[in-house]
Amino acid sequence: MSENKQKWHQQIYWPVTLFLILNPISCMVLVPLYYIFDEFSWSLIAFALIFGAITNLSITAGYHRLFSHKSYDAHPIVKIIFLLIGASAWQGSALKWSSDHRRHHSFIDGDKDPYNFHRGFFFAHMGWMLLKETVDQPIQAPDLQKDKWVYLQDKYYVPVAIFMGYIFPGLIGMMLGSFWGGLIIGGALRIVLTQQSTFFVNSLCHTLGRQTYSKEISARDSLFVAFLTHGEGYHNFHHTFQIDYRNGIRWYHWDPTKWTIQMLSLLGLAKKLRMISNAEILKARLKAEEATLRSRGFADEKLAQLQDKILSAQAKARQLQLEYYKLKKEYSRRRIEFSTAYDQKLEQMKRDMEEARLEFKLGMKIWKLYLRSAA
Ligand SMILES: [Zn+2]
Ligand SMILES: [Zn+2]
Repeated sequence: MSENKQKWHQQIYWPVTLFLILNPISCMVLVPLYYIFDEFSWSLIAFALIFGAITNLSITAGYHRLFSHKSYDAHPIVKIIFLLIGASAWQGSALKWSSDHRRHHSFIDGDKDPYNFHRGFFFAHMGWMLLKETVDQPIQAPDLQKDKWVYLQDKYYVPVAIFMGYIFPGLIGMMLGSFWGGLIIGGALRIVLTQQSTFFVNSLCHTLGRQTYSKEISARDSLFVAFLTHGEGYHNFHHTFQIDYRNGIRWYHWDPTKWTIQMLSLLGLAKKLRMISNAEILKARLKAEEATLRSRGFADEKLAQLQDKILSAQAKARQLQLEYYKLKKEYSRRRIEFSTAYDQKLEQMKRDMEEARLEFKLGMKIWKLYLRSAA
């Protein structure tokens, strides 16, 4: 029995396990004590909320979409901010985090996936961090090891994390009236809450929602989960197209991480925002749905024909749209010279464009009708 116990002990990765147990417990004790012995302060709560939101964004827009996936390029100042505030989340260095995350994408749902969802919800959520076997993996991210700022954050991770995670919010708290208030609410409690938010990406994003773009992986798309995870809830899309800086591709999809990256781009602090074309995305979606329709008795040929029709109508509409706007621009420059001829040409192009759009819409309606009738 003692031998088994010894083995069990040896499997645990104690530094992380103790932190994940002691930090929430200390919050349960210290948060009520703080409110009993100190004054309630709205400004401190506001600071903790804002710092919490920025912490999460440093993980989603920084650790995840910038460092792990390189879905856009960022100005060094943005990188440094993400690395400093990202360290305050106590989720490891950007280098270690990204290396694990890339492994998750490469080996999703398999034995080499560090947070393999098939080992259970709790394992994917945080259990994997308690075991040496999954957490103590070699770093495999040569590109990031060459990045000066990422390298430095990894090298000095512990002092940076202690300062940014606890001392910095403590100092802000001191300016707002209470060092301990800042340390407990803006430090420890914020760490618990932001950690849980990130952990949900590995658990809930593989549990709730639709498999819109690939039914072969456990990742799912869900608006509800997107609310909990700063837009990471469109996880099936993300696993299918990991290079895209967006996770929610529609304008109305809740993806604050995408909006942050767009804002950085407008300010000139982010560039080369990588996007998968609408045609590629639609193709993947139709492929995933085709498998459902086929399993319900629709003939391969019929499905292939309809898919071709939809995709070529989409391509035609896109092409005509580009040509139409190009001509319109030219027309505005040379209006007087060619007015009648250009007017007619523009009208004709507009009609063709509308026709292609209608063909596309009709094709999609028929496709959706198939899906409904097969349900
Ligand atoms: Zn990812
Ligand atoms: Zn995932």
